[in-house]
Amino acid sequence: MGKLIYLDNAATTKTSPSVVEAMLPYFSEYYGNASGIYSIGVKSREAVSKSREVIASTLGAKPEEIYFTAGGSESDNWALKATAEALREKGNHIITTKIEHHAILHTCEYLQKQGFAVTYINVDENGLVKTEELEQAIRPETILISVMFANNEIGTIQPIREIGAIAKKHGILFHTDAVQAYGQKPIRVDDLNIAMLSASAHKLNGPKGVGFLYIRRDVRIRSFIHGGAQERKRRAGTENVPGIAGFGQAAAEAAETMEKRAAYETRLRNELIDRILKEIPYSRLNGHRTRRLPNNANFSFQFVEGESLLIMLDMEGICASSGSACTSGSLDPSHVLLALGLPDEIAHGSLRLTLSAETTGEEIATTVETIKRIVARLRSMSPQYEDFCRRRSS
Ligand SMILES: *Cc1c(COP(=O)(O)O)cnc(C)c1O
Repeated sequence: MGKLIYLDNAATTKTSPSVVEAMLPYFSEYYGNASGIYSIGVKSREAVSKSREVIASTLGAKPEEIYFTAGGSESDNWALKATAEALREKGNHIITTKIEHHAILHTCEYLQKQGFAVTYINVDENGLVKTEELEQAIRPETILISVMFANNEIGTIQPIREIGAIAKKHGILFHTDAVQAYGQKPIRVDDLNIAMLSASAHKLNGPKGVGFLYIRRDVRIRSFIHGGAQERKRRAGTENVPGIAGFGQAAAEAAETMEKRAAYETRLRNELIDRILKEIPYSRLNGHRTRRLPNNANFSFQFVEGESLLIMLDMEGICASSGSACTSGSLDPSHVLLALGLPDEIAHGSLRLTLSAETTGEEIATTVETIKRIVARLRSMSPQYEDFCRRRSS
């Protein structure tokens, strides 16, 4: 087998060599606890502070508004559960959308069992949140609006500014799961009236198992992990110093390369989309044509099982996915594609390809040719397709 073609960067990314480099000293040399008063502890503490400053500056935030966590899922859980608990006196209603990541959706289901009411807003056929519906859903007891910045399956970028303005007008906290968008899109939290924002290092060439939750200074939120006094007593536990150092490096690099990378990935991504739609009949693009993450393409091929397509791509050394990593392995159609209004059989046949700055034009060309061949082969074995062709020609 030749070189792998990795097109699953929405699931996770390769840790860049410079990030690994930035992490190494904190394993072997400056391994001291960041709470220690001796010099190797001071070095650890400095690394944590530096990353906090770098990350804060990428958002136009203050360092003391950044709380390190163990990843996007923890940040999402914290934002929702701790807000719900802290504002329980004020109200019990939360608004979110039907296309959130499971870290949000399953947390909302948990909160419903605890007596909270949750409204799940619909999206249009391109995956854009219906903002009028969102505003109409607001009740006197609404305490939180949580809408993802960009969707992990279809890449659609939400009207975050508009949603932030609605939240502000009604005096409701606004949380956004920006795990896909952070490092890909410029974000200024104050401009957008974001009160809380989740991000995760491994989606931007950083290490796995480290994330942050931005919490605006005026938001009173409960601590999530109880224990020591780390993270301003709000998130206990010895700091993941190497991970945090790596996250800082990854965030700095992502900010620095963002514009060029987005232009490069958008060009390749458009080439991929244009060729697939033109060269493969009965294919469709899922998500908005232009309001999508620069590196995301998501297709459905009528009469083709997504799982079979993925397995055959894997045999040809192409790593792709059918949606989120958490749903592959289960045979349920994607909740995101169902929310777009796609019928079950099309929602089953989806393929997500997510590029990186390392993806080449040649890889895209190989991928298109391979998908063409596999789709044709799978269709040739499909009784439904045969039926469809027979009916069409008669
Ligand atoms: C990956 C992802 C998460 C989960 O982040 P982890 O760091 O893997 O826990 C949450 N939300 C979105 C939108 C994601 O893409």
